[in-house]
Amino acid sequence: MSDFLDGLNEAQSEAVVNTEGPTMIIAGAGSGKTRVLTYRIAHLIAKGVEPFHILALTFTNKAASEMRQRIEKVVGTEARNIWMGTFHSVFSKILRIEADKINYPSDFTIYDSEDSKSLLKSIVKELHLDDKVYKPSMVLARISAAKNRLVSVNEYLSNPIYKEDDIASGRPEMGRIYKIYAERCFKAGAMDFDDLLFNTNVLFRNHLDVLNKYQQKFQYVMVDEYQDTNVSQYLITKKLAAVHQNICVVGDDAQSIYAFRGADIQNILNFENDYPDLKIFRLEQNYRSTQTIVEAANSIIKHNTKQLRKNVWTSNPEGTKIDVIKASSDTEEGKLIANAIFEEKAQHNLRNRDFAILYRTNAQSRSMEEALRRLNIKYRIVGGLSFYQRKEIKDLIAYLRLIINHNDEEALKRVINLPKRGIGDTTLAKLIVIANENDVTLWTVLSEVDKVLQGRTASAIQGFVDLIKAFRISAEARDAYEVAAQVAKESGMLRELYEDKTVEGLSRYENVQELLNAIKEFTANPEREDTRLGSFLQEVALITDADTDNDEDKDRVTLMTIHSAKGLEFKNVYVVGMEEGLFPSSMMIGSRQDLEEERRLFYVAVTRAEHKLTLSFATSRYRYGNLQSCEPSRFLEEIDRQYLKIQQRSLPTSLDRTASSRNLSSVRGGVTKIATNPVSRPAAYVPSENFVPSDLRRLRDGMRVEHQKFGFGTVKTVDMASPDKKALVHFDLLGDKTLLLSFAKLMII
Ligand code: ATP
Ligand code: MG
Repeated sequence: MSDFLDGLNEAQSEAVVNTEGPTMIIAGAGSGKTRVLTYRIAHLIAKGVEPFHILALTFTNKAASEMRQRIEKVVGTEARNIWMGTFHSVFSKILRIEADKINYPSDFTIYDSEDSKSLLKSIVKELHLDDKVYKPSMVLARISAAKNRLVSVNEYLSNPIYKEDDIASGRPEMGRIYKIYAERCFKAGAMDFDDLLFNTNVLFRNHLDVLNKYQQKFQYVMVDEYQDTNVSQYLITKKLAAVHQNICVVGDDAQSIYAFRGADIQNILNFENDYPDLKIFRLEQNYRSTQTIVEAANSIIKHNTKQLRKNVWTSNPEGTKIDVIKASSDTEEGKLIANAIFEEKAQHNLRNRDFAILYRTNAQSRSMEEALRRLNIKYRIVGGLSFYQRKEIKDLIAYLRLIINHNDEEALKRVINLPKRGIGDTTLAKLIVIANENDVTLWTVLSEVDKVLQGRTASAIQGFVDLIKAFRISAEARDAYEVAAQVAKESGMLRELYEDKTVEGLSRYENVQELLNAIKEFTANPEREDTRLGSFLQEVALITDADTDNDEDKDRVTLMTIHSAKGLEFKNVYVVGMEEGLFPSSMMIGSRQDLEEERRLFYVAVTRAEHKLTLSFATSRYRYGNLQSCEPSRFLEEIDRQYLKIQQRSLPTSLDRTASSRNLSSVRGGVTKIATNPVSRPAAYVPSENFVPSDLRRLRDGMRVEHQKFGFGTVKTVDMASPDKKALVHFDLLGDKTLLLSFAKLMII
């Protein structure tokens, strides 16, 4: 057992063997945080802790399965019994077990964002609102932000803060939409992604016996990438760890890149207040990258004002300088990058898989793909339109969802007229209105269609209902594959695709066959206990962008957004599109806070590289259909110049007049430099030893809090001036209450 600890330095092994009590590992990129977490779990199991009592939360499913494989190498197949996965996958599993407690069916559907947007679109239409003002994606983002801060519909409607905000932004009906959306999801037996966390909180808050069961069960709780948890996730882990207190979180505040989705860097900072006897481990040695890369990354992140102080260093070789490539267009940028990869491969005997091209937005992959294809370099795109987002795949899955949950309205709308059965949109819209007016589900209306409709459409609907019912009976007796194959055939879907002899039609047909293969593989796995359809659907619903990597041939260059690259490493990394407006994104330069998040994203990108980093920009690029001229990113100027090598290279065949530029400032021309304050930073956050954790001093108007007895609420006013410091809090269920802060059992969430 002890020999596997050999692969750790002293600070790392300390963090591994000190398994008891609250622990935080806060450290820079590439310093072995994930490695420590993996070894810690292996160590616990080797010490005799039951894997069933260990909960480990990761950021992607892929990260979880990689970690599991590593642990399996040390402790054997016991590793399979660890509760390990993303927050969403672990807690959807728990919600299924406990569904009846919150009045959901245990086979509830998980709506993806397309389902949610489609539902919101119909609600906006039903309310006769303008869908340009109430754009589904925007409305969904607002609802998602509310849920991630645990703001329920009731709270949203009763608290004037939200109303005023919505009126100010010209969308006064937002609260009403949120209410109807939540009701419709509930009626459909469906949860969206945010509900998985929101409802877990509701479950744990309202059912202390259930909470207690899981508190007892999970003796050890571990969270990777803790800097990217939101309030909802923070509270779940805090509650689960309350009994055993064996919680270990690892993270790096410099890599917090999901604030736009509600992640709160404050969760790291608060951790010390939550656990006064917290043990903190700092890992400072980077094992991933060359000195040049580590120091360049340090020189970037020091431009941020709000950053924990860290001293990341490495004993790795100095390595080569960071190449900066200038191209005259995005097309040329693609070619230069592909050429560079081609040359590097040959010179250093590298494989495709040693390379990654990272970009800010998915759309940038196109020029890279074209150039790679031209040089016959194999690549794969992570994210983007993945297999499970393709129309024909979603169609067949919608059938399967409907069979398991007849009330799943989005699935129903998708397949009722597919293949065409003569059930038009107008009829469907009418039936939805009837369902809502009578407060029943669409399925109920369809099953009693003869009460509201006669004639051909009615019998078409009757036929559809009978078909789904027959599939259901079959699903009760057979495994997922047998049902799916039957549905593909008997619904008429396969035939329709087969008869479409166009190239696209053929590939859609093959895709459906491929899905059937995947389901076959799922059911054929001997370790799988439950091979029924419901179990397969649950797994599919939780596949995220960063997980889609169903390539047998692994030797490919990886193309992905920086967001999906978190936690990963590659020998050679190319960060492309280093231009103002693109990176930093024009949406993120309006405030220091946003700009700092964007800079952390750049820090994440740079620290993915092991041996060599290349940064590139184009001086012109097609965006939104127009050719635009671009300025190099301010981030290029923030890197200490000694680490950079401005490339003079150009394409051999190109008459690139820009290739002779000597240095960056000449490239930037006379553009005003945007002030970044590298010298006089406010003191970084350094926790002092005798710090008294007095959480409530931070209390401000508008904060969300939880009271031991009164539940969740929002602070209306805080009075710190009077001798008895007090706050007026509006509780979601009980209304306004004034609390004396010295006594209040209040917690900021
Ligand atoms: P990130 O912040 O990017 O998530 P991290 O802190 O989680 O990084 P790891 O991914 O765990 O870092 O480790 C980075 C690399 O360094 C990995 O390849 C890991 O195997 C290696 N590594 C970590 N610690 C050691 C060690 N003590 N000896 C040798 N290699 C190590
Ligand atoms: Mg990591």
